[in-house]
Amino acid sequence: MLTSAELLALDRSFGAQPTEQILAWAWERFGSRAAIGTSFQGAGLVMIDLAQRNKLRFPVFTIDTGLLFRETVELRSRLEDFFGVKIESLEPDTTVQEQTDFHGPELWKRDPDLCCTIRKVLPLKDKLADLDCWITGLRREQTESRATIGIVEVYVFDESSRQEIVKLNPMATWSREQVWQYIRENRIPYNPLRDRGFRSIGCWPCTRITGEGEDERAGRWTGFNKVECGIHTFLPKKVDFQI
Ligand code: SF4
Repeated sequence: MLTSAELLALDRSFGAQPTEQILAWAWERFGSRAAIGTSFQGAGLVMIDLAQRNKLRFPVFTIDTGLLFRETVELRSRLEDFFGVKIESLEPDTTVQEQTDFHGPELWKRDPDLCCTIRKVLPLKDKLADLDCWITGLRREQTESRATIGIVEVYVFDESSRQEIVKLNPMATWSREQVWQYIRENRIPYNPLRDRGFRSIGCWPCTRITGEGEDERAGRWTGFNKVECGIHTFLPKKVDFQI
């Protein structure tokens, strides 16, 4: 695994490299033990495209909470056709009905953290146990909480065994404009809800249209002091350094 010094040096050098080169490093180092996780936001689509064009055959997965918009579910098969890749769908052990039976109706209105843990974090955790590198589409300009992410980070996956996982954020420095210019130029299918004013699209109960001047993710979990579902915050970071 990477030492702190290697990590810092890598992160610095990745800052000056094109995204496809960062992805190529991951492919060379981890092969198919590295996988792209995406909820089909713009940056994830760009990353899958760059990987495919450069013959970096990373597995791709998404999390289907059972509460996604119909448009998002349909987009998955359109993307599989477009990219020629199979996109694995991770599902929670608990159906929405079972969650309702156990926790009562509309848990997301009362305890969205618990709902996200059941429907997103736990399925992801199972998946990450089989990976050495998790590749995400996080971008620094999305929110304040993402402004300091590294391009490469290491997280402690299991405290007792000290199992670690590399998290690669190759899109960290991209702006929203760059992402959508790339998508338009390369005619990549995207979520039609974008054209109706949704800028960050998650589960239907927790996503609303955002206005100009609002954060990209301001339309998520309105009414709660919550900007992250938990999948990017549940693991402790091995080393923290300033970018
Ligand atoms: S985004 Fe909302 S509905 Fe989806 S898992 Fe989280 S709380 Fe539940």
